[in-house]
Amino acid sequence: PIRTRIAPSPTGFLHLGTARTALYSWAYAKHHGGQFVLRIEDTDVARSSQDSVEQILASMHWLGLDYDEGPIYQMQRLERYHAVAQQLIAAGRAYYCYCTPQELDEMREGQKARGEKTRYDGRWRPEPGKTLPAVPAGVQPVVRFKNPLEGDVSWQDLVKGTITINNREIDDLIIIRPPAADAPAGTLGVPTYNFAVVVDDWDMSITHVFRGDEHINNTPWQINIFEALGARLPAFGHIPVILGDDGLKLSKRRGAVSVTAYEEQGYLPEAMLNYLARLGWSHGDDELFSPEQLVAWFDGSHLSKSPAQWDPAKLEWVNAQYIKRADDQRLASLVQAQLAKRGVAAPARLEAICALYKDRCATTVALADWASVYATQVQPSQDDLAQHLTELAKPALASLAARFESLAQWTRADIAAAFKETLSEHGLKMPQLAVPVRVLVCGCAQTPSVDAVLELFDKEIVVKRLRQQ
Ligand code: GLU
Repeated sequence: PIRTRIAPSPTGFLHLGTARTALYSWAYAKHHGGQFVLRIEDTDVARSSQDSVEQILASMHWLGLDYDEGPIYQMQRLERYHAVAQQLIAAGRAYYCYCTPQELDEMREGQKARGEKTRYDGRWRPEPGKTLPAVPAGVQPVVRFKNPLEGDVSWQDLVKGTITINNREIDDLIIIRPPAADAPAGTLGVPTYNFAVVVDDWDMSITHVFRGDEHINNTPWQINIFEALGARLPAFGHIPVILGDDGLKLSKRRGAVSVTAYEEQGYLPEAMLNYLARLGWSHGDDELFSPEQLVAWFDGSHLSKSPAQWDPAKLEWVNAQYIKRADDQRLASLVQAQLAKRGVAAPARLEAICALYKDRCATTVALADWASVYATQVQPSQDDLAQHLTELAKPALASLAARFESLAQWTRADIAAAFKETLSEHGLKMPQLAVPVRVLVCGCAQTPSVDAVLELFDKEIVVKRLRQQ
C-alpha cells in the first residue's frame, strides 16, 4: 500500500509550507487508498516543546488532515535508533569519531586556508590497513556513517526529475550525536535528523516522501543509509518553497506564516486547504474544489517545479467564495467566537446577520465587524455626519423614527412602508434618507438594503440611534 507521512519538528506553529506538504502527502495517500502517518521530529530537544506539538496537532485537525497513524515521537524511539546504529557499526558501515569540536574547527580552518571545500576528513574512518588515532580520554564520540567514496547517488524525483550527486561531494555524516559528558562508555546519544528520518521511513514502510526542497541536499545521504540498511527506497518528491511578494522565502518577518494565524484572521479551513493545494499544483483551470475533489485528482502529477508565490489577495478571494457558500449556522458560531474574543456579546439574530452580510465579507472577522454593529453602537465619523446628515434629512429622520415607533410589527415590509411614507411626506429620494439612517444606525454609509439591515435590529435600538443627533 501507498504510505506517506508528514514529519514536522515541534519548534513552533505549523508553517504554511509544512501544511502544504502535509496536504500533498495526505491527498496522495487518500487518492491511492493508502495511509498517512504523522511523525513528530523532536530530536532537537532544546527547541522542541509540547506546546508546539499541540499547536501542530490543532492545525492539522483544523485543516481536516486526518492521519491514520501517529503522532509518533522520535524521542520515544531512541532505543531503536541506537540498535540500528550498532547494526551499522557492526557491519562496518558506521564508526565512532572522537574529534573534539576544536579539532573540527581546526580541520575546517585548514581546508579554508587551502581553498578546499570544508568537509570531514575521515580521520576516524576505518579502512583496511589504516591505523586509527588513539582514543582520547574524556571525549564522548559521535557515530558517523561511512559514506561510499565513489559512485553516483541518483534518484527520480517526483517533482524535480532526475537528480544525481557524486559521492565525492558528500562526507561522512554524523548519525548519532555524542551522549552526555558523564554517560558511561558505549552509551549513544540522540540521532541526527538524517539518520532518524531514514530509520523511521524504513520502519514505517513509507513509500512516498514529499517534503520541502530545502532537504534536497540531505537526500543523497539518506539514500546511502537506506542502501546500507538493505531497506527499500521510498520515492522522493521535493516541493519548491513558497515565496513572499518580495520574491524571498515566506517568513515571519513578511507576514503570517502559521496556519493558526489564518484561522484567527477568519479564514475557513476548506478555503485554506483549497488555496494551499493550488499553490504549487494545478488541475486544469480549476480554482475552487472540495477536499474530496482534491483527493480524487491528486495523483502526484502537475506539481510545479518552480517556487510558488504567496498571494494574500487570491487567498482572500478564495475565502470569500467559501464564505458566500457556507452554512449560516456554522458562520454564526464562528462569528460568535470572534466576537467573544473582542468581549462582545453575540446579537440575537446572528444567523440572519451572517446570511445578509456574507456576500460582502472575505473573512469571518469582517462578518464579525458587521455583527458587532448590532451589538454595540458604532460612532459615525464626523465626515459622514457632515456629509449625509443634511438639513433636508433631519426632519425626515425624526418622522421616520416616529413612524417606526408606532409600528405594530417590525418586518422588512413594515419598515419599507414607513420609509415610503416618510419619503413622500418630505419629498425626498430614497438615498437622501437611507444613507443618513445607515450612518446613524450602523456608523457607515454603505450597507446592504436598508430595510433588510434594520429588520435585524431591535426596533427600540433603531429608534434610539436615529434620535441620537
Ligand atoms: N523535520 C523535518 C522538517 O520539518 C522533516 C523533513 C522530512 O520530511 O524529511 O523539515
